[in-house]
Formats: sequence, C-alpha cells, structure tokens
Amino acid sequence: MSKKAVIIGAGIAGLATALRLRQAGWSPLVVERAPVRRTGGYTVTFSGIGYDAAERMGILGELADQHLTPDRMNYLKPSGERRFTVPGPTVRAMLGRRALNLMRGDIEDVLYRAVAADVEIRFGTTLTAVQQDRSAATVQLSDGTSVRADLVVGADGLHSATRADTFGPERDFRLDLDHMVGVFTLDRLPAGVTPGATETLTEAGRTLAIIATGDRRPTAFFGYRTSDAAAELAAGPQLALPAAYDRMGWAAPEVLEQLAGTDEVYFDSISQIVLPSWRRGRVALIGDAAWCVTLFAGFGASLAVAGADALGTALERHGADVDAALAEWETGLRPYAEQKQRLGRQVRGLYAPADRTRLFLRDLPLRLAALPPVGRLLQRRLQLTE
Ligand SMILES: Cc1cc2nc3c(=O)[nH]c(=O)nc-3n(C[C@H](O)[C@H](O)[C@H](O)COP(=O)(O)OP(=O)(O)OC[C@H]3O[C@@H](n4cnc5c(N)ncnc54)[C@H](O)[C@@H]3O)c2cc1C
Repeated sequence: MSKKAVIIGAGIAGLATALRLRQAGWSPLVVERAPVRRTGGYTVTFSGIGYDAAERMGILGELADQHLTPDRMNYLKPSGERRFTVPGPTVRAMLGRRALNLMRGDIEDVLYRAVAADVEIRFGTTLTAVQQDRSAATVQLSDGTSVRADLVVGADGLHSATRADTFGPERDFRLDLDHMVGVFTLDRLPAGVTPGATETLTEAGRTLAIIATGDRRPTAFFGYRTSDAAAELAAGPQLALPAAYDRMGWAAPEVLEQLAGTDEVYFDSISQIVLPSWRRGRVALIGDAAWCVTLFAGFGASLAVAGADALGTALERHGADVDAALAEWETGLRPYAEQKQRLGRQVRGLYAPADRTRLFLRDLPLRLAALPPVGRLLQRRLQLTE
C-alpha cells in the first residue's frame, strides 16, 4: 500500500509537493483553507534549482509556455514622465538562459493541472490539530474528519497554522523587514500606462508598479516602508494603501479607485521565517511556512518547487525511514534557503529607498544595465545566474 501524506495548503509549495510525492509513489491529500482555488499574482523569476527541479518533474515545458517578458521597464518621475527605460532585450538578457518570468498564478495553474486528476484536494478545509506517535501522525481537520498519515507537510505559507500547531507561535520565528506589500489585478489599464510594459514610480519609502505584460490582466504592485506592520495589517488594504499612497501622482489615484472596488487584494507584511529546524517527527514545513525568503530575494517560488522535488527524492531514497529522509532533505536544502534569506535582508532597501540619494544609487546600475558588463554584474548581484 502506498504511503499517505497530508499536505496543508494548495499554493505553489503544496501543489508541487503533491505532484512530487505522487511521482514517488505516495498518496497525498491536499487541504486548502480557501473555498476555491486562489488565482492572480505578480510576475516572479523562476530559475536556479527551481528550474532544474521543474525539468526533472516534467513540468518545465508547460511553465515555459507561460513565460512572459515586458517589452520594456519604464522608471518614472512623480509626474509620470519617464526617467529612464530598460529595454525588453536587456531584461531578457539579465534573466539568463535557464530562467523564466512567470505570473505566480500561472505556476499554480500548471501544478494544479498536473495533480488534479489523481490527487484529492479538499477546499474550504484546514487543520485543527496534529498528534503523532512513532508510527504515524493523525491530522484533525475542520470538516470533522481525521486522517492518519505517514507524513504531514505544512505548505500553508507565511502565517502557517501547521507551524503554529507543531512548532510554536509565529512571533517566535517571524522576522519583519519593515515593509508592506499589496498586489491586486486591475480591471483596466490606467490612463497613461503603456501596454506591454512594467512601469514603476518610486518615491521616498514607497513604490507603485503596474505590470501589464503579455495578454494578462494588468497587476498593481504596492511596496512601502513601515515601522508598524501590525498596525498596517490591522487597518487592512482598503485603509492602509490609500493612506500610504496619499498624494502620489501618476496613475496612483486611478489605481486606488480600482482598489476600492475589489476585495481580492494580496496584502501582507514582508517578513522572513527563521526556524532552527523545518521538521518535528512526522511533520515537515515547506515553502514560505518554513523559510519565507520574501519578495526581496525573489526566489520563493523556485525554492518551493526545488524543496518539493528534493523531498520526493529523499523519500524515494529512504523508503520507510521518513525521519532519515527528512533529515537528509533539510541538510541539502537549508544552505540555499539561508543564502536567499541573506540576500533578502541585504537588498531590502532597494524597493522603497528612504530618500532621493538612495533612489539615485539604486537606479544607477539599472540605467546602465543595457551595457553588457553592467548587465552581468546585476545578474551576479541578484544571484540570477547560478
Ligand atoms: C509581491 C511578491 C513578489 C514575489 N516575487 C517572487 C519572485 O520574483 N520569484 C519568486 O520565486 N518568488 C516570489 N515571491 C514569493 C512566492 O510567491 C512564494 O514564496 C511562493 O509562491 C511559495 O509560496 P507557498 O506555497 O509556500 O505559500 P503561499 O503562496 O502563501 O500558499 C499557501 C497556501 O496555503 C493556504 N493556507 C494558508 N493557511 C492555511 C490553513 N490554515 N489551512 C489550509 N490552507 C491554508 C493558502 O490559502 C495558500 O493557498 C513573491 C511574493 C510576493 C508577495
């Protein structure tokens, strides 16, 4: 009989784990709190060990079909005039050969299609408790059922309930990087925004970007500094974002108007999760629940898929010895996650520089990016090439 895994969360980490465990001969059950599949998201760079893992898992072709690059990246003045432009070919060259530019929702779609036929996904359900003994774990679910499993994988993101249940309260492991992020899909392109481009306006402490790439609906991205993430979260996006973007020019008023008409906003603090160990007995954490590197590092989706592939490989190698498999998995993956967390902490100031001098310094390499030596330097600085 195949081994049973309960995976909490149907994001990129959870679905990739379901796919890889299925490939390893396991029988996964996925439990997702949202009542239906979450869609939408922003553009992410998918590269390095994530790209290699996707190739091994047989989904690289489908991911590559979703690849998008902007025709150009325009950096703007507060008036909306262009300060400078990074042309599309330069953006593509910076990305490197084994890397894709993907909408987060498209990665989830590809993974969902790969598992939908033979993995049960229970929507509108969460875990309420996990107990474990030496031979198995028992997961109590909010639908009143309990499931006995050889392995429980918490893939339930930054605010993981699995982590809270088995490892301890979030405040013990969360490192706030003093920024907030908000993302939502726009109904229409605001006036003056170029179709096909990514346009960014950065002022002291705040950035608004509009991503209008390919045939996808445009996405608005807010990233701003805060000294009190808890207060921003308590206010929620409908109050916090208009306050933080008060008196920003360009497309900001129109974007905020569209914000008022939607309740599907991704809004969170930018925080890392730093855990001394990602496993306790038969419970393992994966993706943002375990090692959230943040969008500053720009590698969360890649690490989630790489982590799922490595987990499947370790379980295949160790057969019934789940403990040995988890130990090997964590030892192999941890250096990558820690490297990206260090990068995330180093570059955090780049997204919303505190003043004009820092903004100028941030933009200098981008302005020069069209020159090949500078492009190569950027690739190394952002760790896009390994
Ligand atoms: C603005 C932004 C830009 C980014 N840019 C990049 C980039 O350029 N490159 C990159 O690689 N990564 C990027 N990332 C990060 C990337 O999207 C994530 O790190 C990655 O998708 C891993 O997510 P995950 O599956 O671990 O968690 P999530 O995507 O948070 O998924 C968790 C899932 O668990 C569900 N869930 C939550 N709680 C429960 C519960 N109690 N019970 C059941 N289900 C639950 C949620 O509904 C969700 O479906 C970016 C992130 C942001 C916010």
